[in-house]
Amino acid sequence: AKREGRNNAQFFMQALNDAACERLQLERQLRKGLANEEFVLYYQPQIDAGSGSIVGLEALIRWQSPELGFVPPASFIPFAEESGQIMLIDEWVVHAACRQVAAWLAQGIVPPRVAVNLSGCHFLKKSLVEMVAECLQNFALEGRHLEVELTEGVIMRDVEQATATLTELKAMGVTVSIDDFGTGYSSLSYLRRFPIDTLKIDRSFITGVTKDTDGAAITTAIISMATSMRLEIIAEGVETAEQMNFLLEHGCPVMQGYLFCRPVPPEEITRLLVEGLPM
Ligand code: C2E
Ligand code: CA
Ligand code: CA
Ligand code: CA
Repeated sequence: AKREGRNNAQFFMQALNDAACERLQLERQLRKGLANEEFVLYYQPQIDAGSGSIVGLEALIRWQSPELGFVPPASFIPFAEESGQIMLIDEWVVHAACRQVAAWLAQGIVPPRVAVNLSGCHFLKKSLVEMVAECLQNFALEGRHLEVELTEGVIMRDVEQATATLTELKAMGVTVSIDDFGTGYSSLSYLRRFPIDTLKIDRSFITGVTKDTDGAAITTAIISMATSMRLEIIAEGVETAEQMNFLLEHGCPVMQGYLFCRPVPPEEITRLLVEGLPM
């Protein structure tokens, strides 16, 4: 038994070592990836399902690493948040989105507003407003081209600072949406105090709207409260016509999901903006 105990301990230490090694590796790979432009933004259209028009685009990061292959954001964003590298990634994302908007404008295409996901805690500092302003200025863009997606968690970390930051973004014309709404812990009465524009209903509720009564009840409650607070609503992760019809019937026409379009490279979006969605 003693022997076995030691083996277990050794095994545990080895595992810890491997994990530490892996973290160091990943941190280094991320740094190299940023330096070498190994990241790209894909875009997923946000659709007004009533008219079929594209009312927005969500930018979603993709990492094509020569060493690690394709790394999905769920595998490196949480890590980057811990290691602090998320600030650099957020900045890269805003820069890349602005560069793309400017490229579309230069081609004579007027893109809908582009939503970027920001998860860095620099949201709580002044630097976020400055960073966004700098990126816009770099490409001579007005703020209305950009939307910032934040989760409830990021905002609730420091309510006062968040309110100040959101107010400044709004003054620049940048709109703000709350991502994954309903999964966090903020109450709607709190939300009313924030200068936000849009709520994105989390996919987990949308998945349930035609299957379980909870999903349907939560979704309709969010829609009716958001409507009475005059907030825009976007339903995330719409995959079936049944879900679309439910949302249309309950007053949430703007949606995003595989039913309409997956996240695609910018060239594909160019084609969609010129030709429209095949519906
Ligand atoms: P999110 O912001 O909630 O993004 C929505 C995710 O759902 C995306 O996954 C998208 O591809 C996926 N999705 C869209 N429609 C459907 C659908 O109909 N069905 C299903 N099953 N999924 C759908 P993705 O691109 O893998 O991103 C995952 C998460 O990683 C994002 O969740 C976001 O939290 C984070 N992320 C992605 N890009 C960025 C970024 O540029 N910066 C930061 N900070 N985080 C990002
Ligand atoms: Ca998002
Ligand atoms: Ca989301
Ligand atoms: Ca999410």
